[in-house]
Amino acid sequence: MEKKIALVTGASRGIGRAIAEKLASQDMFVIGTATTEQGAEKISAYLGENGKGMVLNVTEPESIDTLLAQIKEQFGDIDVLVNNAGITRDNLLMRMKDDEWFDILQTNLTPIYRLSKAVLRPMMKKRFGRIINIGSVVGSMGNPGQSNYCAAKAGVIGFSKSLAKEVANRGITVNVVAPGFIATDMTDALTEDQKNAILSQIPAARLGEAKDIANAVAFLASEDAGYVTGTTMHVNGGLYLA
Ligand code: NDP
Repeated sequence: MEKKIALVTGASRGIGRAIAEKLASQDMFVIGTATTEQGAEKISAYLGENGKGMVLNVTEPESIDTLLAQIKEQFGDIDVLVNNAGITRDNLLMRMKDDEWFDILQTNLTPIYRLSKAVLRPMMKKRFGRIINIGSVVGSMGNPGQSNYCAAKAGVIGFSKSLAKEVANRGITVNVVAPGFIATDMTDALTEDQKNAILSQIPAARLGEAKDIANAVAFLASEDAGYVTGTTMHVNGGLYLA
């Protein structure tokens, strides 16, 4: 295939969908994933001839292996990996159940290890690759009720810095985009009081939009960003200044 091939996990909605659409508009062939066939069909429909929706559950290693084998067979090697899929299981630590802790690590952190490792070899051969991991502002700020999520998102930053150093001399960059509060299903779950409390902290005086994140990802995925690696790009309207 002539076009660069991008894999975006969790592309059925929210930030992942905006990223998939943006990369497709930048002349990449985009594979977007959902956890269900129905979601995958929806992705195929919005990507049209610029990509395809496929099924992936990032918590299941065999699901990852199956997806990667299908992509290799049908389209070729992945040039751009965007690890976007993520969930929240909020609770104060005093009340947190083991499941809430481990679900977050297994969905938000471990798949980044698994998927990054799986795409590296062909990227090394090509001497080109882009790995972009979606973190969160709270991975740097902390947030009460999200110790599990913040630990995973802070882990994403440490992982990305280390891998960036391991593969920089092979033309592969590894970066994090850390969204602030973005209007998606994930933040719809917040109460009005919670939303107002957050808004009062954001100098830009609005929640972000999914496309704000997609624009940052598109830059890091581009040829132009070849000297940017190991960094965390905060996209948060000034909420947190690193
Ligand atoms: P949404 O809840 O809107 O979408 C989540 C996406 O992840 C869906 O496509 C969902 O697929 C997919 N997903 C969930 N669980 C799994 C799984 N086990 N395997 C594979 N895919 C899965 O989330 P957002 O768009 O808001 O968030 C996207 C990323 O951005 C996440 O990493 C999140 O932590 C991060 N983020 C979001 C912020 C926000 O304010 N919204 C702020 C900071 C970071 P399906 O539709 O099939 O369930």
